[in-house]
Order: sequence, then structure tokens, then C-alpha cells
Amino acid sequence: MNVLVINAGSSSLKYQLIDTDTDTLYAKGVCERIGGAGSLIEHKQIIKGIKVKKESPMKDHAEAMRLVVEYLVDPEVGCIKSMDEIQAIGHRVVHGGAYFSQSILLNDDVLAKLDKCRDFAPLHTIAHLMGIKGCLETMPGKPQALVFDTAFHQTMAPEAYVYALPYEMYEKYGIRRYGAHGTSHRYVSAEMAKILGKPVEETKIVTCHIGNGSSISAVKGGKVMDTSMGFTPLAGVEMGTRCGDIDPAIVPYMMEKENLTPAQVNDLMNKKSGFLGVSGFSSDSRDLESAIADGPSNPNYERAKLAVDILKHNIKKFIGAYTAVMNGLDAVVFTAGIGENNPHLRELVCEDMEFFGIKFDKAANDAAPHVSENTKISADDSKVAVYVLPTNEELVIAKDTAALVAEL
Ligand code: ADP
Repeated sequence: MNVLVINAGSSSLKYQLIDTDTDTLYAKGVCERIGGAGSLIEHKQIIKGIKVKKESPMKDHAEAMRLVVEYLVDPEVGCIKSMDEIQAIGHRVVHGGAYFSQSILLNDDVLAKLDKCRDFAPLHTIAHLMGIKGCLETMPGKPQALVFDTAFHQTMAPEAYVYALPYEMYEKYGIRRYGAHGTSHRYVSAEMAKILGKPVEETKIVTCHIGNGSSISAVKGGKVMDTSMGFTPLAGVEMGTRCGDIDPAIVPYMMEKENLTPAQVNDLMNKKSGFLGVSGFSSDSRDLESAIADGPSNPNYERAKLAVDILKHNIKKFIGAYTAVMNGLDAVVFTAGIGENNPHLRELVCEDMEFFGIKFDKAANDAAPHVSENTKISADDSKVAVYVLPTNEELVIAKDTAALVAEL
């Protein structure tokens, strides 16, 4: 089945056309600056190896969708003859609140519940609603499925998702841990379980999705027991520009000292912290790594090293905590931009972890700086397997969509 996977942001729309029978990616691309000046589409036809980048006016997501379909059916740069060859659409949705614990086909009730998720992720949810509306306008009658980043984490027990605040905060406002990157954690933990070769029910896996945004999950028996992101994606480990876990009392303290509004302190923690805040010069791990490689002669060396060491320390703590929570550990998985492309960080995390049964294979890690296929980086006699597994959220979205549509 050909599924068009849509990831709608507030001013962007990413897409992939995937054949779920053969797991073939036909085309992918992104529309940027939708609704603004200089909107453009970048389209890649994977089979023919063609790339196009073109400015094109798009006043809203519906126009972006029309353009995407135009490119997909174009005789030169397209990959299908007509829109009829798209059997379904699968949307990536960032937040499903407590309403959605699995992927679901769109209907009026689902749409109404999604609308309520605006409370948790306003910008993302509004963007998803625009993407869905765009598809409804461009391809009326085509089945649409929603696949939620939060759904995989819905298996957590209350002791993992309820915060020790007055209970009314949970009841009145839904303040609880929801987590994020669930689709990625689900994909890599399932891949890892296959590699371990024992029944999923018996597996204990820590998945480290480390990118610009990062989260770590404890997946026991195929179900999430805990995850590092919380009510919002600000919690957990240090990230590109997000601070991760801090003492909550720091928030009112900073507000008072710096005379900040809630919006300003939110901005400080989400956009000016993490790698960027600590290093003082970049949120990108490549820049930090290059400053570290230069050594102390580079003026950014000390703080770049500190930023990376903080992340290393954070990840180690989560691996330790989640091993305790699961009462054991079979495997640690690294994935996403940094997990797949930063061997230095992987090494920092995995060294001095013998107590946890991790015997790191430095040579295997060094030999795979950029991982595009499942790669083992622990020694053969390591009690705990350590792997780098490239994530593929779009494939999960396409497959979930195809499975739901097949049941119609
Ligand atoms: P997002 O959370 O926005 O999806 P990514 O998963 O793409 O982010 O991760 C972005 C991070 O991954 C950046 O810090 C970047 O330095 C790093 N990264 C991505 N690709 C590469 C690469 N090819 N080589 C080195 N680092 C990379």
C-alpha cells in the first residue's frame, strides 16, 4: 500500500511516500515557510535520484499539500501516475494527551479529541490540524490515520507518570508525564528485541533517542515503564537548546532575579539552554565536537567539553535508574541525529559502565561514525548489548496507517 506520511509543522510540511508492502521509500521532501514570503519546496525522487528545490507561493497547508501531490504525480520528478495511487495518509502527531494510546483513523470524534490536545502542545497541534485540513481539501475521502509521539508511553504506570504535586493538578489540568519520541522508541526497541532473539516479553531495553531533542526510555517486555521527557519535551537530559531536568525552584528564582515573565523564562529554558546555553556558542553537537577536538587552544574548548560532559552524565544516570526500575538490562540503544552520528558521545556514555554489564567495543564504535544500518558497539562477551539503530519513524507511521486501512 502506498502511504503518504505527513509531518506538519507550523510553517513547514515534511512528506514521504512509502510503499508498505516492500518498505520502499519513493519520494520525500519538505515545504518550508508556508504562509510567509519565499516559501519553497524541496523534493527528492529517491528511485531516480532526482532533487528539486523551487520557490513557490503557498499561503497555507492546503496549498502546500496541492503542491506536494503535483510533484508526486509529475512525469519528470514524480513517482506515481495519479493521486489514486496514494491509498492513505498517515500523520505524525506530537501530542495525543491521555486520549490516544495507539494510532487511529481520523473521524469527527478523533478530530475533536485532537483539538483538545492544543492545551498540551499548542503550536504543534495547530500545525497538525492545518495539515489534516490541507489533506481533507486536497484529497477528500482518502483515509487518514494519526500516529502519536506520546502513544507508546501510555503503558507507563501511574507511579511513573503522576508527579508528586497536589493530585488536583493532575485531575484538573492533566499535568502528568506524557513523554515524546514514542514512535522512535517503539521502532528501535522492537528492532533491538528482534536482535536479542528472545521473546519480547522477556526483554529489558534502554533506548536513547539523542538528537536536537533527546529522550530516554525504559522498555520492559515491549512496554514503556518510564521515559525521560515529561509533561512537555523540556524534561530529561540536556538537549540542543533545552535544559532538561533542573531543580524546579530555579524557575521562580530566575524569574525574580532576572525580572522574567513566564513566557520569557520558558524561552530561556527551551531556546537558550542546553548545549547552546552551556557552551555559549552552538546548539549543534558537530560544532562542540570540533571545538573539543581542537583542544584547549580553542577558546570554546572548556565550555564545549562541559556541555558534552553534562549530557554524558545525564544519560549515564538514566541508564542506571532505568536498569533499577526494570530490575535488569539486556540492551542499550543509541539513535537519532547524535546517537547515530556521534561516536565520541557514545564512547563517553559507555565507558566505565562495567558494573552494569556493559563491555564497550571501541574499535567497532570508531569504525561506525555515521550509522545507516543496525550496528553493534559492545564486545561479544558483553552482558549487555549496545547497538546503534537508525530510527525510522516515518516507516512506523506508514505501517500503522496501512494496518488501520486494511481493517476498513
Ligand atoms: P531533531 O531532534 O531536530 O530531529 P536530529 O535528530 O537531526 O534533531 O539531531 C540533530 C543533532 O544531531 C545535531 O546536534 C547534529 O549535530 C547531530 N547530527 C545530525 N546529523 C549529523 C551528522 N551527519 N554528523 C554529525 N552530527 C550529526
